[in-house]
Amino acid sequence: MTAARDDTHDPALASWVDSANHPDTDFPIQNLPYGRFRRKGTDEPWRIGVAIGDEVLDLRLAAELCPWGDPVLELLTPLAAGDLAAFMALGRPAWQTLRAALSRALSADSIQGAFLESCLVQQVDVQLSLPCEIGDYTDFYTSIHHATAVGGLFRPDNPLLPNYQWVPIGYHGRSSSIVVSGKSLRRPMGQIKLPDAAEPVLRASRRLDFELELGALIGSDNDLGHPVAMAQAEDHLFGLVLFNDWSARDIQPWEYQPLGPFISKNFGSTLSPWVVTMQALAPFRRPFKRPAGHPQPLPYLDSEANRSAGAIDIDVEVWLQTLRMKKAGHPGDRLSGSNYSEAAYWTLAQLVAHHTVGGCNLRTGDLLGTGTLSGPAPGQGGSLLELCGGGKTPLTLSTGEQRTFLEDGDTVILRGACAAEDARRIGFGDCRGTVLPSVD
Ligand code: MN
Repeated sequence: MTAARDDTHDPALASWVDSANHPDTDFPIQNLPYGRFRRKGTDEPWRIGVAIGDEVLDLRLAAELCPWGDPVLELLTPLAAGDLAAFMALGRPAWQTLRAALSRALSADSIQGAFLESCLVQQVDVQLSLPCEIGDYTDFYTSIHHATAVGGLFRPDNPLLPNYQWVPIGYHGRSSSIVVSGKSLRRPMGQIKLPDAAEPVLRASRRLDFELELGALIGSDNDLGHPVAMAQAEDHLFGLVLFNDWSARDIQPWEYQPLGPFISKNFGSTLSPWVVTMQALAPFRRPFKRPAGHPQPLPYLDSEANRSAGAIDIDVEVWLQTLRMKKAGHPGDRLSGSNYSEAAYWTLAQLVAHHTVGGCNLRTGDLLGTGTLSGPAPGQGGSLLELCGGGKTPLTLSTGEQRTFLEDGDTVILRGACAAEDARRIGFGDCRGTVLPSVD
């Protein structure tokens, strides 16, 4: 089932937290994303918080200092202890109960406001970790525009392989190197064979790239040997984050056949810290359609609910701030942007149904990457590989600097937001990472 709209989505709802009522905030009361944090410069225990305007509601303090009904207090207990996964594992009824309680407590006329005021911390004063321990990580390849563009660069005579329109293509990635936004990553070393060289060499990548993706976090698990049907697929999804799947484009072509990417991808990926729940995304659901002339999905990847509301309208974009920009206080240039519902050829429900169709068990905290969300138009590439034609056409930045791939000191920033006429705009916050020199 798709999460339904309810009172918590009312666009007229305002909060007693003033900054949450600002039209540009990513975190109005209609959003209520979860993150794991502690106060900067302390070694206090990690706890879960909810982003609200420019503040974080500390759920450890909120559990202690504010009156709640018993069922809500029980849900707050693992969150107070910093364990988002324990809450994610409880499933949708628990998620809905707490969302409704937090929405009431943070709304402008709430009597709980007096207790909760002292439970707020400014976002600039907190350190954020990954929201939960990331379990298995699978990266999909759901943008047909990305698949066609990249396929064309790697295999000009055969860009889109014939299975693409039938199978949600994915590979098993590495979760140990997934880091939270703000953490820098080292340029990877790897085996590189240039097209005109007789043999490969080991050296630092010179074609380091980003990938503009969303990540879906699994909430409740499924048992081994028990596939999840389309009708239940979204019940297992807790929420979405922004996801930068850093990629070394000179390591990738030499290693990717026959078993897929490896060292070119496993050196790091960056996750945004605030998990936007599937409930919060309810007003932004859109029909899922196949382009004319394309085959319809097989029955196990099809449902009425998926056709009517399987897609999600999320604008995603990527920004680049070079070291020179950073030193000058320049916020960076917007390189490209696309929309998730237009980029994706497969929906999240289809990814869950396909992932489990052979009996694979998904576990709480597993991450499904959407793949690079490139749109159909030329400036909508979700990677430099696409934006620069495989390194042939450099981008000229507002400072006059040029890029075909990332330089040391570059900061990549992903952003995402949802807007609709009948809903309050919500956003994902920033997902940022800076490139450090290699170790060689
Ligand atoms: Mn990827």
